[in-house]
Amino acid sequence: MSVTRRTAANELLDSALKNFYGAAEEMGLPEKLMTLLSHSERRLEVSVPVEMDDGSVQVFKGFRIQHSTALGPAKGGIRFHPDVDADGCEALSMLMTWKCSLAGVPYGGGKGGISCDPLTLSKKEKERLARTYAARIAPIVGTWQDVPAPDVGTGEQEMVWFTDTLAKLRGQIEPGIFTGKPPLYWGSQGRTEATGRGVATCGLELLKALGVKPEDVRVAIQGFGNVGSYTAKTLVEAGAKIVAISDVTGTYYSPKGIDIDKAFAQIQSHPKRMLECFAEDGCEKLGLEDVLLVDCDMLFPCALEGVLNNENANKVKAKYIVEGANGPITPDADKILADKGVIIVPDFLANSGGVIGSYFEWVQNLQGFFWAEEEHNSRLMHVMKGNFKRVWDYAQTKNVDMRRAAFMAAIQRVADVEDLRGIFL
Ligand code: NAD
Repeated sequence: MSVTRRTAANELLDSALKNFYGAAEEMGLPEKLMTLLSHSERRLEVSVPVEMDDGSVQVFKGFRIQHSTALGPAKGGIRFHPDVDADGCEALSMLMTWKCSLAGVPYGGGKGGISCDPLTLSKKEKERLARTYAARIAPIVGTWQDVPAPDVGTGEQEMVWFTDTLAKLRGQIEPGIFTGKPPLYWGSQGRTEATGRGVATCGLELLKALGVKPEDVRVAIQGFGNVGSYTAKTLVEAGAKIVAISDVTGTYYSPKGIDIDKAFAQIQSHPKRMLECFAEDGCEKLGLEDVLLVDCDMLFPCALEGVLNNENANKVKAKYIVEGANGPITPDADKILADKGVIIVPDFLANSGGVIGSYFEWVQNLQGFFWAEEEHNSRLMHVMKGNFKRVWDYAQTKNVDMRRAAFMAAIQRVADVEDLRGIFL
């Protein structure tokens, strides 16, 4: 019997489906589970009317998609961006299912957003947009239903508005309903640094598995924002030498090693948090893309998607790549790098420190008891190391690369639970 595979006009959704089918077929997932997991449980579209500062009314489109709640409440960010649409959110929601599964947290996958340009909105307009959106998706979000978080274009402030709106609608505070809140308002110590710390930990675990000492490794890091800067700090603490860092202002390269504390202080004092004007003895300024191609052992792309592609992948000198950003390597580049023997730690393992940090925030919210930062960090390290080992061992046993192994391990956990529960609702 030939089985119809779901396809989508939206590129992101189509590629999420192809990735899923590819791994599912390789692992011999039964057809009924493949059919089930290739569809989302729920797709909600809402209109979000906002009274603008000039008195006019604009209606924005908002979405919340829950791909799977097999493992627990749906989990995933809310994005404010002009390109947000339902299919794109569904693709990202599916990826969240696999990321949460692999991370070992008790969540399914969700994603949402509003099609808008937050840069053109005043703070008051943004607040009205966020609060109306929260009210419209209220029927399907909750501590045990769906727990959203920040994403592109949203941050701590939006999470406070969302949480506060739901508290007012329901007549009681439910702090675990959104994560990514500031420590002042039910947030968690250590959450800001969690993704970068996790990315660095994956890099260090890879070196340990290969028997390489961190002190013998030269590192290049693309992006010096939240993920890149804390990745750099953690690697330096472990003894690695960072020879190149970069941001939108260019690449800063020093073969004898960059003073990361100095670079960190530079972004803290820059009004736009940039490395612009960073200088020290022996440090040379290079072009934007050079960070990917400098002479180094380990590369951490921590900025954007698609930066390693079929035009530059064969020029990469690093032997190991740890994906801090989401999707920094195109499928074509993935193949080129694999042929060169480069070992890649995939994004949804490497940057899962963010969602694990969110889980810790949710746990503390449920308990109404807050952990010290040291406790948060030591738990995070423990979980990240365990997850790395699971994927590494899976890859060795099944003789596949780490990306395929991560997908297979993630899909397997969701499939096992779906199988256990049966198909009902
Ligand atoms: P950020 O905005 O804090 O930092 C992004 C950095 O990339 C900045 O330093 C920026 O200048 C730099 N950058 C942008 N364009 C560049 C270019 N063309 N060349 C070089 N540098 C460039 O963002 P972030 O939170 O650090 O996120 C980075 C990536 O990690 C994104 O792909 C994001 O989706 C992913 N991610 C972030 C988290 C998190 O918790 N922050 C979690 C998971 C995944």
